[in-house]
Amino acid sequence: MINVVKLYPYICKHSSCLSLAMYEFTNTKGSDEYKKTITIGYSCEDHVEEVNKLLKEIYYGNKESNDI
Ligand SMILES: [Zn+2]
Repeated sequence: MINVVKLYPYICKHSSCLSLAMYEFTNTKGSDEYKKTITIGYSCEDHVEEVNKLLKEIYYGNKESNDI
């Protein structure tokens, strides 16, 4: 039997941009012994910088985003 599974395409996380994502952002969690890589977001070709900044703010606070 053939199964049909709907795929959910990854969409750019930048505000109202709904383009298909071309980039994946990951973060590592846990200690050195038990490190896990988690995916935290996606972006299209045009918004790599914007999404990177947004994710930095979410995960590390907005300290780093002030020095543009
Ligand atoms: Zn985008």
